[in-house]
Amino acid sequence: MVSYYTDEGVLNSPMGFFSMWIGSMLGLPTWAIALSFAVECFILFAAGLFFADLVSGIVHLTLDYEVGTNDDLRCHAEYTIKDVLRFEAEDDLFKKAKPRDQFLWNFHAHHDAPYPASDSNFELVMQIVRPVSLPVIGFCLIAAFGLLPMWFMTIVLTGMTIGPFMQFTHFLSHARGRNLVSSPVIRFMQDHRIILHPADHKSHHVHFDRDFCIMNGWANFIINPLRRFLSCVGVYPKEAPTVITRRDREERKGDLQRMEMNTAPASEPPKEDGL
Ligand SMILES: [Zn+2]
Ligand SMILES: [Zn+2]
Repeated sequence: MVSYYTDEGVLNSPMGFFSMWIGSMLGLPTWAIALSFAVECFILFAAGLFFADLVSGIVHLTLDYEVGTNDDLRCHAEYTIKDVLRFEAEDDLFKKAKPRDQFLWNFHAHHDAPYPASDSNFELVMQIVRPVSLPVIGFCLIAAFGLLPMWFMTIVLTGMTIGPFMQFTHFLSHARGRNLVSSPVIRFMQDHRIILHPADHKSHHVHFDRDFCIMNGWANFIINPLRRFLSCVGVYPKEAPTVITRRDREERKGDLQRMEMNTAPASEPPKEDGL
């Protein structure tokens, strides 16, 4: 039987898998080590999926609660993807805004025009890769000095390999809500909560202050109380920024209507009937 156990223990076993280390230490037969190795791979993959979902929730929460500096742009809404693209290509309100405000408006536009995505598949992947690449490089550097266990890095790297595709699972849930998903494999994965089910994402588009996780929703039980805590201590507002923006938008509309009424030419005085 192959023995992976050495004086350095698990760190010296291939990829640091516990099953090989413990199995060979206990003198288990090869088939039992192979079986426990498969179970361990499954657990690590599931943990990687969970990690990716957790990251999706953190990124989504952070971006939803960042309002930017351009109130006129923030209060502008488009309700179809065609109009979103036209506004971004032609309107000075968007074109002359700061890049960060443009990025935030584009991200928040999903709440008013949820489906399909206004960005290319490449951009959807890059929206996740950009914010998480530095932390992942940091993890890898720390791990290179032997400061992080191999099992933890396996979970992080599995999660970060799957993570960039979280916008696909997100938009697949919107597509399913519109009866546009016919693939039995995808429907199976959604029904078994391996990827995001539309029922688990719907509440986000009603309240905008909860259920931020878009890979499969497994980590919402961590992100939802975290958001409530941050609102409680004053880091985030009590109401979701989207709710505040919609109210501001309605108030601006009301102000505009009142201004138009006040500046409209006075109606003609009733004519004397000549009596
Ligand atoms: Zn959102
Ligand atoms: Zn959505």
